[in-house]
Amino acid sequence: MKKEEKLSKIIQLLKKEYGEHNHRGRGDPVDTLVETILSQNTTDKNSSRAFSNLKKAFPSWESILKADPRKIQKAIHSGGLPGIKARRIKHVLREIKRRRGRLSIDFLRDIPAEDAMDFLRSIKGIGPKTASVLLIFRFNKPLMPLDTHNLRVAKRLGIIPPKMSSEKAHELMNKLVPDKEKKSLHINFIIHGRNICTARNPRHEECILKNLCDYYGNLG
Ligand code: SF4
Repeated sequence: MKKEEKLSKIIQLLKKEYGEHNHRGRGDPVDTLVETILSQNTTDKNSSRAFSNLKKAFPSWESILKADPRKIQKAIHSGGLPGIKARRIKHVLREIKRRRGRLSIDFLRDIPAEDAMDFLRSIKGIGPKTASVLLIFRFNKPLMPLDTHNLRVAKRLGIIPPKMSSEKAHELMNKLVPDKEKKSLHINFIIHGRNICTARNPRHEECILKNLCDYYGNLG
């Protein structure tokens, strides 16, 4: 079976099982960007707590630009890696202000996905995943971020070669997956990866994708 045909079957089966996802985030996109940076390498619960503490400690993003890094670190401590994330957040905010003259990224809504991606990726500290999450969830751009669940499930299914780097895998998936399916597939891979295709002891027998899965097919 061709890869495109297999992918299309996977997309349809996952949609049937977990639904379609078309929701769009609200509020200031800079909030979403900072929340996404805080969510790196931690759980949703810890990063939400860190974000809400940060908002309480700093009434505006402008105030972070002048803040003592130790105060930022203290506020986001529950999100893990506070030193790295505090520096990253401050640097990203400073760069947006320097390039745009103010702390706003609303202009990304009106430019093509590739240009928006280039702008974000040119800022140190914003990787492909953070940029894609922001652009699909806040600006509804046709992109597919790959988190650990996405990568694991796509590799096991045989959509992405097992040893491909996450950067290359990101490019490949964005080429293979039709634009209108990207957001739903990203979310459905997360649901499937959390509940069935878990990192340890995947539940193959309950999996709706087992007949399409390379990993399962090779178990013998
Ligand atoms: S069959 Fe197993 S390895 Fe393949 S997608 Fe399903 S749970 Fe994951």
